[in-house]
Amino acid sequence: MITLTDNVDVLPGVGPKRLTALHDIDIFTIEDLIDYFPFRYEDLGERLPSETLDGDKVTFKGIVSTPPIVNRFGKRSQTRFGLLIDHDNVRVSFFNQPWVAQNVEVGQEVAVYGTYDAAKAGLTGIKMIQATIDALSPIYPATKQISAKTIRHLIELAWSEVRGHVDSLVPKGLRDKYRLLDRNTQIENMHFPSDADHAKSARRSAAFEEFFVFQMRLQLLKLADQNFAGEGVAYDQTALVTFENSLPFTLTAAQKKVIQEILQDQKRPRHMNRLLQGDVGSGKTVVAAMAMYAVITAGMQAAMMAPTEILAQQHAINLANMFDQAGLSVRVELLTSGLKVAQRRQLLEDLAHGDIDILVGTHALLQPDVAFHHLGLAVIDEQHRFGVNQRAKLRENGVNPDILAMTATPIPRTLAITAYGEMDVSVIDQLPAGRKIIQTRKISHSQLDQTLRFVRHELEDGAQVYVVTPLIEESEALDVQNAQAMYEAMQLEFPDSQVGLLHGRLSNDEKKSLMADFKANRIQILVATTVIEVGVDVPNASIMLIMDADRFGLAQLHQLRGRVGRGSRQSYAILVADPKTDYGRARLDAMVSTTDGFVLAQKDLELRGSGDILGTKQAGVPEFMVGDPVKDLTMMTIAQQEAIDLVSQKKWDDRPENQALVAYLSRTMARYRHFD
Ligand code: ADP
Ligand code: MG
Repeated sequence: MITLTDNVDVLPGVGPKRLTALHDIDIFTIEDLIDYFPFRYEDLGERLPSETLDGDKVTFKGIVSTPPIVNRFGKRSQTRFGLLIDHDNVRVSFFNQPWVAQNVEVGQEVAVYGTYDAAKAGLTGIKMIQATIDALSPIYPATKQISAKTIRHLIELAWSEVRGHVDSLVPKGLRDKYRLLDRNTQIENMHFPSDADHAKSARRSAAFEEFFVFQMRLQLLKLADQNFAGEGVAYDQTALVTFENSLPFTLTAAQKKVIQEILQDQKRPRHMNRLLQGDVGSGKTVVAAMAMYAVITAGMQAAMMAPTEILAQQHAINLANMFDQAGLSVRVELLTSGLKVAQRRQLLEDLAHGDIDILVGTHALLQPDVAFHHLGLAVIDEQHRFGVNQRAKLRENGVNPDILAMTATPIPRTLAITAYGEMDVSVIDQLPAGRKIIQTRKISHSQLDQTLRFVRHELEDGAQVYVVTPLIEESEALDVQNAQAMYEAMQLEFPDSQVGLLHGRLSNDEKKSLMADFKANRIQILVATTVIEVGVDVPNASIMLIMDADRFGLAQLHQLRGRVGRGSRQSYAILVADPKTDYGRARLDAMVSTTDGFVLAQKDLELRGSGDILGTKQAGVPEFMVGDPVKDLTMMTIAQQEAIDLVSQKKWDDRPENQALVAYLSRTMARYRHFD
């Protein structure tokens, strides 16, 4: 007997080659196979028998005219019934789908899909073989190695074996509450729906199940985290106050609030896993600095991981300055790929001795030879740039430190529960006082002269300027050429200013020294490709001129705009473009209409059309097979709430009604797709 947990190669016809193809689409067991749902259904046009030739694949719609009869021969079976179509009585046969008999009765209107077989025509003159009761033909996501048809065939085989033996994952109470199908019916109607309504209700149940299981996993991870005996950080409150008072600005109320939330977590002898959300420019770095300083006052070390070397270097410089100005002796070091072997060895030695307080770097921090003496906190900046796996890896790295992940959230608040459901979230919902709203303008290329006059005026007034050129069709060479041309044009246009050129082909050292020059105002105009998109902080820069702005995505434009408006100068984002598509125009309009990152993120989703997998993928939201975290957001929220409720119940995992779920979670947790 075949069971759900059997490997899929127990099915006849699955040899090594097919097995590999199945593994590639994450189908390992029979259960994976029957949970491999069609992504849509094709409505096959109906025909009349008189219009049909031998061998045609057709859909017939009619009234069941005779009771279904099942003939069994060993493991095989044939189910037959008559179907009255117009004036023709057609005999329909189904092979190895005995359950069909239970789903039809005389007088019912059904549609069947199958191959018309004139040769085997019975008494009534017409016979269908291998029919599926289905006006809707399910379409499965297929690959080069395995066709949708093969997948369909294997699903039929598997289903005929395990049908009726599938326990529901969603507990009965919840199924009743939300009028969801049991898992048997759900799976059957996903694969073999008798009509669109059945498919729809199966989809609803399957989506809920998928969301619920996902949220259960997040809750279990969260519980595991909380129960993990992290260290309580015995920080020095007085020293923290001194640090805060020495800052060149007053913290915003929002910053103070999130710092308290973080310190509370740190103090507890439990593992912290917290996400800090705050729009570009909201001042996340100083919050991270406070949290890092807290562990330092407790005699531990901190790590800060950034997505690029430029950003890592900036953080290292900023942090060192911040502590310096406060008169605090905190040793900040930067781990870069450019270090000489001997330098690196020395650095790692100092780190292992506990002589370095804060180590800043890219994911290079995750290398196995990077060993801290006593790591108390790991900060991950621009966390959406890192996969969840890297997040997890950081935890494995030795001591399992508290984690503070930061993001300028290109993810709408509403979607955060799918992406970060296992984390506690703190939000900085306020920009520092005195910030002037960045003025955003869109202009066409023909207005560029006028704009350059304005730029000249601002330069004479002491401003600094970014000029960003876009990526061209994935070609880095063209990309650099384009930036190079712009660089030369700017030199000609502004002979009295120093112009720098930053692009991806420069070495890290070259990039760093350019950024240092710009920061120190030795360069007034920085022409750059999107390498400066993330995190760069030069408060005196007040103009962001973006060429061919319609080539950028909304999130990217928002990040770029966030590079200005960081100081007291009135800042400007100027989007130069002559968009040719409505979509391009709509993005620019959205940029002009708001500077709120959350609003833009929501707009972005709407513009892209919800359910755009690529979009959500880019935003760091996991993918789902059935449910759509954007369209089905309410359902996701309910699933989350129910998961939270369930795990908060005493001994929930001992209760009989939850056993199928518990077993499922434990057998699938290890290879959890959403975390890749
Ligand atoms: P982000 O949240 O985008 O990472 P940063 O941490 O880089 O923002 O901060 C942006 C700028 O705002 C920096 O120059 C920083 O020094 C400044 N800043 C941070 N907090 C405040 C504050 N409370 N008041 C004034 N300026 C602040
Ligand atoms: Mg930042």
